[in-house]
Amino acid sequence: MNYESFFADRIAALKREGRYRIFADLERRAGRFPKAFFHGPHGPREITVWCSNDYLGMGQHPAVLAAMHRAIDECGAGAGGTRNISGTNHYHVLLERELSDLHGTEAALLFGSGWIANMTALNTICRYIPDILVLSDADNHNSMIEGIIHSRAEKRVFRHNDVDHLNQILAAEPLERPKLIAFESVYSMGGDIAPIGAFCDLADRYNAMTFLDEVHAVGLYGERGGGVAERDGVMHRLTVIQGTLAKAFGVVGGYVAGSAAMCDFVRSYGTGFIFSSAMPPAVAAGALASVRHLKVHHEVRVRHQERAATLKRRFAEAGLPVLPSQSHIVPVLVGDPVLCKQASDLLMRDHAIYVQPINYPTVPRGSERLRFTPTPLHDDAAMDHLLVAIQDVWQQLRLRLAA
Ligand SMILES: *Cc1c(COP(=O)(O)O)cnc(C)c1O
Repeated sequence: MNYESFFADRIAALKREGRYRIFADLERRAGRFPKAFFHGPHGPREITVWCSNDYLGMGQHPAVLAAMHRAIDECGAGAGGTRNISGTNHYHVLLERELSDLHGTEAALLFGSGWIANMTALNTICRYIPDILVLSDADNHNSMIEGIIHSRAEKRVFRHNDVDHLNQILAAEPLERPKLIAFESVYSMGGDIAPIGAFCDLADRYNAMTFLDEVHAVGLYGERGGGVAERDGVMHRLTVIQGTLAKAFGVVGGYVAGSAAMCDFVRSYGTGFIFSSAMPPAVAAGALASVRHLKVHHEVRVRHQERAATLKRRFAEAGLPVLPSQSHIVPVLVGDPVLCKQASDLLMRDHAIYVQPINYPTVPRGSERLRFTPTPLHDDAAMDHLLVAIQDVWQQLRLRLAA
């Protein structure tokens, strides 16, 4: 076999479909967000980022940066090992305490990323519980799907956010069979929100565990940033709450929170936890500062929601096909991968606006979109500029308007 031509052919196939991914070469500058420098074909230039998951700009917050600088000076660069072999730093312990307090759980457990947290926790829980059936929402993130697949547990997929469908599947199973319902709170590509309480009711009725990915909600919803489960008053009802430190908290890392026994079990049996080096102490210190800050600064969440609502309203008034999001995520439908990429390219080239095209497999084919994430730092002037730009691009490419 010619290995090199195999790789090249597979890449050529992506290009033919128009969904070959090109990374925007960005240089973030602390203090300038949502602006950044873009290293494009015509040299570096300042652009406005409209698709960052640094939802609140915590990645440049002075409290976070100061905590990270201090921790580097105190502790040095790396953790020096896995958590078990010399790598547990006091900042890891403090951060796990802070996260369990945030979610009102007995314990929390850190991972290198949210992806690894989902993969490892689901893989470990579902692998060891005999005959467990996993009920998985149809729109679940790749990290949950991988964790479930690797566990080799039996899996049934229920229609997205569909309580009745989930009920049907659960009702057909023996009550004593172990079950786990895996779902997200805020779905990141459509912006819709799960009926968490109704899923918990089903879990109670059918004796199932619940596993909730709050990656796009921690820091952003609830009185203290505990997520949609906090907002809805159901945080205490979940078996596992999973989150990231890389999105609203602006740093990097992932975690699960839940009972002391569950966390200890994953800590003790989860290979993605055991065999991977601990995150650098400065990363834990930065995340700790961010979680603490957002716990007591609810006004940032209020402003964030206002910005998202305003952008949705302004897009809708301009006749753009905004998808029906219930959250801070503002997706605009294009419906074709080539046009989606072209729209993104024109926004960058002609208007210094950066929004990444979202194509298959992140979303289903035919639902390609631009996904805008307004932050508290996107002011009215930035929105005015975006509105002019997007209407220009929509006209140039004759893209579809709202029905
Ligand atoms: C981004 C994401 C993850 C992974 O989190 P990272 O910390 O970025 O690895 C998990 N679940 C969902 C729904 C995500 O969007």
